[in-house]
Amino acid sequence: MTSRITRLAVASVATAVATLGITVANPGPASAAMTICYNTSQAPSYASIANQAASIWNNATTNLTLSANCGSNLRIYQITGGGSYAVRTSLGNGRVYIDTQQAQQYSPLRIMTHEIGHILGLPDNYNGNCAILMSGGSAGTSCTNPYPSTTEANRVSSLFAGTLSSERATDSTGSQVFRDSWPAVPATVG
Ligand SMILES: [Zn+2]
Repeated sequence: MTSRITRLAVASVATAVATLGITVANPGPASAAMTICYNTSQAPSYASIANQAASIWNNATTNLTLSANCGSNLRIYQITGGGSYAVRTSLGNGRVYIDTQQAQQYSPLRIMTHEIGHILGLPDNYNGNCAILMSGGSAGTSCTNPYPSTTEANRVSSLFAGTLSSERATDSTGSQVFRDSWPAVPATVG
């Protein structure tokens, strides 16, 4: 009985501290983080991969939070063939298409975090370096690294803080389309 009461008391104090922490850590509206609601209803095979990718970006950055089931800033689709790609309509908004065939050759989590990287403002950087997330398929099928480099993550944080502007080379609809090079690897014969 006593220990139960103690636990309850500890829990109450923890709740109070947590509430106080949120209040103190939010000094003003200028630092309000953007919530990017992503929707995987059209990509049922990749819902858990999307959740993992969201956690990676949330842990690596500030000023934004990717969150499931709260809206559709970011719609994720699964397609068959044609390659994975992203369409950014504005910073933090757009669509990601995951090619199920490509995701059997390349790490699906790396593809997902890469394509979401485009929605978060990053361009491609096909330099073959596996430590660079936006090097995409240029790093080969053996590269499964799903984490943005510190430079990439800091750039996203700066974009969402409003201290950097992303390139705006857009198509006729005003969207920026990232047709990705995740080169096809011939199937092994015999
Ligand atoms: Zn790309």
